[in-house]
Amino acid sequence: MSYDRNNVFAKILRGEIPCKKVHEDEHTLAFHDIRPQAPVHVLVIPKGEYESWDDFHATASDAELAAFSRAIGMVARQLGIAGDGYRLLSNCGVNGHQEVPHLHVHIVGGKLLGRMLPKD
Ligand code: AMP
Repeated sequence: MSYDRNNVFAKILRGEIPCKKVHEDEHTLAFHDIRPQAPVHVLVIPKGEYESWDDFHATASDAELAAFSRAIGMVARQLGIAGDGYRLLSNCGVNGHQEVPHLHVHIVGGKLLGRMLPKD
């Protein structure tokens, strides 16, 4: 499947629409989710054109992989949620209910988050 350059995160990366940035480095950008679902809700994205984890792992450089992983931990500390804990979520594809087709990790925290998935 080819990457859709019109997705909203691609537009943020090109500076075409604004974001509330919390971290940026050569390979990674992190910003507040526009519809937060917890007191802290930040999205971390690679700057490269990757849609999913399988795509990212298969084709990203070691530097991109390392920067992405480091950024997630750094942002959690920077946001002050590392001590009480937080959750990482990454929706991929149709079954994962991914709405924006650019790889992203949600960092959510700031309250007790309950069970990982609702029971059926
Ligand atoms: P997902 O279902 O994992 O693809 O989630 C996409 C997330 O992107 C949702 O939580 C949206 O609220 C968020 N989102 C969509 N547009 C924007 C935007 N312009 N700035 C920040 N977050 C956004």
